[in-house]
Order: sequence, then C-alpha cells, then structure tokens
Amino acid sequence: MIGSLLIANRGEIARRIIRTARRLGVRTIAVHSDVDAAMPFVREADQAACIGGAAARDSYLRQDRIIEVARATGAEAIHPGYGFLSENAEFAEAVQAAGLVWVGAPPAAIRAMGLKDAAKERMIAAGVPVTPGYLGKDQSTDCLRREADAIGYPVLIKAVAGGGGKGMRRVDDADDFADALASCRREATAAFGDDRVLLEKYILSPRHIEVQVFGDSRGEVVHLFERDCSLQRRHQKVIEEAPATGMDVATREAVCAAAVKAAQAVAYVGAGTIEFIADASAGLRADRIWFMEMNTRLQVEHPVTEAITGQDLVEWQLRVASGEPLPKRQEELTISGWAIEARLYAENPTSGFLPSTGPLERLRFPAGIRVDSGVEEGGEVTPFYDPMIAKLIVHAPSRTAAAHALAAAAGHVQVWPVRTNAVFLARTAAHPDFVSGRVDTGFIARHAKALVPAAEPSDAVLQAAAAAIVPSLDRDPWTCLAGFRANADPDREVAVEVAERPFRVALTAAAPAAERHGDVLFLGGEAWTFGPCRADHGAGAGAAGDGAILAPMPGRVLAVAVAEGDAVTKGQRLVVLEAMKMEQALLAPFDGTVAELRAQEGGQVSEGSLLVRIEGRA
Ligand code: ADP
Repeated sequence: MIGSLLIANRGEIARRIIRTARRLGVRTIAVHSDVDAAMPFVREADQAACIGGAAARDSYLRQDRIIEVARATGAEAIHPGYGFLSENAEFAEAVQAAGLVWVGAPPAAIRAMGLKDAAKERMIAAGVPVTPGYLGKDQSTDCLRREADAIGYPVLIKAVAGGGGKGMRRVDDADDFADALASCRREATAAFGDDRVLLEKYILSPRHIEVQVFGDSRGEVVHLFERDCSLQRRHQKVIEEAPATGMDVATREAVCAAAVKAAQAVAYVGAGTIEFIADASAGLRADRIWFMEMNTRLQVEHPVTEAITGQDLVEWQLRVASGEPLPKRQEELTISGWAIEARLYAENPTSGFLPSTGPLERLRFPAGIRVDSGVEEGGEVTPFYDPMIAKLIVHAPSRTAAAHALAAAAGHVQVWPVRTNAVFLARTAAHPDFVSGRVDTGFIARHAKALVPAAEPSDAVLQAAAAAIVPSLDRDPWTCLAGFRANADPDREVAVEVAERPFRVALTAAAPAAERHGDVLFLGGEAWTFGPCRADHGAGAGAAGDGAILAPMPGRVLAVAVAEGDAVTKGQRLVVLEAMKMEQALLAPFDGTVAELRAQEGGQVSEGSLLVRIEGRA
C-alpha cells in the first residue's frame, strides 16, 4: 500500500478520499486555491499547499504545480477525484513520468473513452450495443442536418468532447436544428475547446442506467452492479439510486456483462463507470439498453454503490493503484437493500435554479444518514466551483423506505442565507410517481409544477411563522393588526412578516413543526425570514412585471437575439448569458417591444445590470 497521497481536488471528494486514506494509514496532502484556504479538506489533510488563484486554471488545473508539490512533500501517489484533471490523459502520464502512482484510469483508456464518438466506435467494434446515431467526420451544418433528418426527430446533438451535461441539445423539429447546433457548438467551444458534435437518436422514455466497474493491473475486471441516474435536471444528475428499479436478474446480468466487456476492451484498471441509456417505454429490457459513454474516474454518485455492496470504493482504488488485486471476486459481491443519493445544490429553485452563493451562516444536516459535504457552517459557497453543498445518502431495506428516508432527510436540511434545492429534493423523493418507481429522465420536467416551490410562502409556512412569533409578542400580540381588515376576529389572527412581506394569519391549533434559527424559519427544506409585522410597509417594493430584464448573476453575454424596436412575444429568447459555465437564455416576460437594449455580445455584465427593457404592447 502506498504510504502518502496527494489529492488533486477539493471539497467533498477531497474529504471523502482523506477519510479512507486516514483509515488505511496513508498520509494525505491537500492542494488548494487561495479562496479555499479555510475549507475543511485543507484542514483535515495531514499537509496542505496553496497552488494558486481561485480560477481552476490558476490552481486545480495546474498540472506542473501539483506535481511539484507532490515532489516537495514526498507524496507517493496522486488521486485526482472527479472533474478537474481526473480524466486528463496528459496529466496521468506526467504523474507517472514523475515516478508517482496515478490513482486513476490508465492514460490509454482515458484517451480511448475521452471523446464520445471514438468511444462509441470502439464499443461497436467490441460488440457492445450503442445508441443509433451519426459519428461522422463531416461536421458541416448541411451534412449534420441531413444526418439528423435521416435519424428522424427528436435527435440529440452532443459535443464529442462533452461532459457534465454541457454541450447537449435536444432538437424536436428540423426548423430548430441550425439554431440548436450553433448554440451547442458555442457551448462546446467555451467549455471544452472543441466544437465537434455527434448526433444520436433521442430516446423517448429514457432511463440512465450505469454500471460501476473495477479493474486491476492483473487484467481482472468485475462490476459492482448498476445505478439508476434518471432523475436529472437539464441532463445533470440530481438523484441517483442503486440498484435500478424494475431491473430483473437476467437484464442485470446482460447489462453488467456488457459493461465488463466494455471495460476489458480498453484494458481498464481502477474505478470506472459505463453509462447506458435505456428505452424504458416497455420496462427495462436488455435489447433496449445502449452504451452511451464511459467515465474513467470515480463518480459523484459512488456512495450508493458503496451502500448496497458494503465496499469502500476509494479503498479499492488505493489498493488497485498500489498493485494489489481487486479486494473481492465477482461471486463475492452482492446487493443489500436500496440506496438513494440526492445532490444538495446551492441554487434557488424559485428563480429557475440559478446558483446561489455567499456565506453559510447556518448549515445543518439531518442526523442518522451519510452526508458527504465539502463545506461547513461559517464557511462559504463561492462562485468559482461546482455549487454542490452536499450529498445526502440514505440506505434502507427497501426502495420505498429509502425514498421516505430521503424525503425526510431533505426536508430537515437547514441552510441560510444561501438558497438550496432541498425543498425540491424533498418533494421529488416524496412524489407518488417517484415512490412507485415511475422514473425516467423526463420526470423532473414533467412534474416541475409539483416539485418547484412557489416564491410565495405556503399556508404551512405562514402558520409556523405565526406560531413562532406569538410568544415573542408583548402581552398584546394582536396590536399590530391595527389597520388591517376591520371585521376580522382579532383573537384568532396574527400579523406576521415572512420574506419581508406582511401577512395576516388565522392561527390554527396545530402549527407545523418548523425549526428556527434567529429570525429564519426552516420548513420542508425551505428557509424564510420571519418576524412580527412592521408598521412601515409601503405598497411593496417589487417592480415585477415592469419588463426590465436584469442579469441574474455576473456573466458574459454570449448572444443578443433581438434589436431595439423589435416586437417580441412572451417566452421569446432575448439574450443568452454564460454564467458559472452554463448558458442561460433570458426570455421575454410578456408580449411587447424592445424599448432599450444594453446587452452587447461578448460583454461582461454584473449582477442586476439592465440587459433589455421590454415595453408591453398597448
Ligand atoms: P455528459 O457526458 O454530458 O454527462 P451523457 O452523454 O452522459 O452526457 O448524457 C447525459 C444525459 O443526457 C443522460 O443521462 C440522458 O439523460 C441524456 N441523454 C443522453 N443521450 C441521450 C439520448 N440519445 N436520448 C435521450 N436522452 C439522452
């Protein structure tokens, strides 16, 4: 076993790796950017070194600097985690050339699976079923459009270098193809420096099924069963589980065997995931499950596999990288119970899931479940990296029990003032279709109305807020009702302010059990400021509906789709912004005319700056 390990990553995965390394007696070295200096992973490592500025290219992507630190600190090995340099073949080679152990996939396997088109060709050759589509070299718009027509709509345009749900566009209609292609290429160039795309038949009722594989340096490959990652928002995984619901033994054997074959075809060593897409319109069937891509790293969602198999995958990685054989043979691996993971993100579900950054004045997780988190109370969510706050992982004897446990866990998350998707996770886990296993990748979009919370506080929140202020009001709790409806029965109503807006609440006997921290109330995964009403409420400050389109966060203007004086219709695309590496289209809020246009293609904008102003049509 290696004696020391440098972790070329940050946040929760760095902590996760440190935990196992410590248990195995391996000394750990953290590297970090300057803004991460106070993060828990830096403190928890045996040693730490700052390697540069906040931007990933100035720190976590600086290959030479990382290897230098490894040398200087006497690290024997480097674990890349996921993201950053984890699937960078040159870095893997540089690590090995420096005489260090690379706790990752062999560079040749990374290369073979790195580009989606080449990987699919390789899998076809190995006899692994792949999604029907176009992988050709001709990248002209005309050719791609012809191929899309031939595949038949809907089609999916994918950046060949894509990953993380970026660089992907579903096209339902030939008329939209050119626009979607242009936008996909733009995103691909910005994110991956490669604008080539491939086309795939868009699978209807798709489920994302992936298989955890592991290889050792002796050529052994085993699988650790499947995960279902169908619960996605804009192609990004939100909830993952293991095993997959509705997977019968024969189908599981076929899919897992295909995954092992795929890994063997690239002489795989270490932890890897073979991702498949299943057409689940008639349940999971072996002949309707196709290879999508291989991820040559440890995945974010690996804990659900750990939960059902009782294995520590980071330990497996360290052992295999040290030259040891796989810790278990295939026949020794079994599935026990059901595990579900939810990704708690710093984002605001009521504003279209825009990332939310800032201090974590309050950060409390439910007890009794596994929580992998990179941050702590008193810390901060910065805009520089992935906005994931934590992974909530539940494990129970049955899927139903696991879903209930997750709903309860997400509902007890307390985060403030950063906004999170906790309420959205709680609602998803409690949704009858989720609980009964009717999941596919369209689930979230289909049920958005039920899952996305309203911007308004619910009755339950108002009740809880009212109940919470009653004891704090001075003897005569009802005085501040003066000026409210005259004929209301003042004995039963409380004037309360929630999210800085006044409400009059008729108190009922049983207010929901909310948790509170100062003037913030937590209920069902949501957080609201509350207090007794103030007298100085004006007509309401919100200027909603005035047609001013403001930048929701700092970013760059990628495209301006309108000109001053243009007539626009509600929902029409006005401006495309790139913020936190994602494209975001800003749409017309109502029918009208472009009265003012401030956004300029290529320009940087700060949060809240005016981009476009729409005037309603008379
Ligand atoms: P990335 O590498 O960016 O994660 P993937 O190729 O793994 O992209 O695809 C991400 C998700 O997009 C899948 O999990 C699935 O939900 C959806 N997807 C991918 N290919 C198809 C397809 N051909 N038809 C329908 N959905 C697809």
